[in-house]
Amino acid sequence: MLRCNITSPSVDTVILRGQISDMRGTDLLVPRPEGLHCPAGGFHIDPIRPVDRALVTHAHSDHATGGHGAVLATRETLDIMAIRLGEAMPAVREVARFGVPMAVGGVSVTFHPAGHVLGSAQIAVERAGFRVVASGDYKRRPDPTCAPFEPVPCDVFITEATFGLPVFRHPEPLAEIGRLLASLDQFSDRTHLVGVYALGKAQRVIRLLRDAGYDAPVYLHGSLRRLCDYYAERGVRLGALADATVARGTARDFAGTVVLGPPSAFAATWVRRFADPLVAFASGWMQVRARARQRGVELPLVVSDHCDWTELTETIAEVGPSEVWVTHGREEALVRWCTLAGLPARPLHLVGYEDEAAD
Ligand SMILES: [Zn+2]
Repeated sequence: MLRCNITSPSVDTVILRGQISDMRGTDLLVPRPEGLHCPAGGFHIDPIRPVDRALVTHAHSDHATGGHGAVLATRETLDIMAIRLGEAMPAVREVARFGVPMAVGGVSVTFHPAGHVLGSAQIAVERAGFRVVASGDYKRRPDPTCAPFEPVPCDVFITEATFGLPVFRHPEPLAEIGRLLASLDQFSDRTHLVGVYALGKAQRVIRLLRDAGYDAPVYLHGSLRRLCDYYAERGVRLGALADATVARGTARDFAGTVVLGPPSAFAATWVRRFADPLVAFASGWMQVRARARQRGVELPLVVSDHCDWTELTETIAEVGPSEVWVTHGREEALVRWCTLAGLPARPLHLVGYEDEAAD
C-alpha cells in the first residue's frame, strides 16, 4: 500500500492511494439511516438502531446503543456499555484489542486508539489493500484518562466535525482548570458546581484538577459515581472522591469545595442544596458565550474531548487519505477546506450523533 502525505492544503503532487486502486470507499462502507454499513463484513459501525452485528467506537450514548444481536468493541467500551445499558446490552460480545487485526466477514477490522474517552477507538476496515478508517469521535490533546489518538494512514478517512469551523480554537485545558482553582481561592465560601458529562469529561476534569495540584476530595453527584469508579478500576488515578449528599450534613459543608454534576442536574432543585453555588460548566461549547449565558453559567470552562479546527485539519493532513468523509457536526466547512486542498470530500449527513458526545 502506498502512502500519501498531505502536509498542507497547497500540496497537490502526492500519490493518492485511491487513484491506483479499483476500490472505492463505498465498496467497503455505505451510509445508511441506521449507521455506517459494511455489506462485505456484515456489520454496522455505531448503529443508532438495532442491527445483527454492531462495531462500536466508544460508549457515548449516541454511538453505543442497545438491542443488537452482537457487539464488537474494546474491553472498556463493552464494560461501560454494560454499565449504562443494563439489560439492553447485547449478550454476544467480542473484545477488540488495539492494533490486532480481526477477520469480520470478508474484511479485516482493526481498532486503534482515538483519544476521546476511556476505551474509545477508531475502526479501520480493510480489504485488498484498501483501507477506510472510521475515527468516531477523537481528540489530539494529551489526556491521561485514555490512550492517545493514533494516526492511521488510510485511503478514506471518516472524520467527525463537532467543532469544524475555523472560529473554534480550544485553549489549554490546564489553563482552564487554573481559572477554576483561582475562583476557588477568590470565592472560598462558595460551592463550585462544575457541570460535566458522565463519561469522559467528569474523569478528565478530576484528573486535570489533580495535575494542577488540587488534592482535596472532589464531590460527585450520584449519577457520576459508577463511571468514576470504573475509571479508577482501570488504573486512571482520580484521587479522593466523595459523594455530594447533604443527607448527613448541611449545605455549608460544601463551601469552598468542587462538586461535579451532570448538566441535567443543574436544571433541577439539586443545585439549591449548596451554599451560594457558583456554577461552572466544562465543555468545548463554552467558547460560545451565548451558550454559557443561556445555561446560566457563571464560570465557563472550555475543556473539550473533541478536536478544534486546527486539530481536525492537521489530523487529515497527517493521516493522508485520498478521500475524506465528514460526519456529525459542521460538515460543510471541513468539506470545503478539503476541496480547497485538492482532497475529494463529502458530507455523510448521518443523523442521530449529536447527544452527549457533542461537547
Ligand atoms: Zn463521543
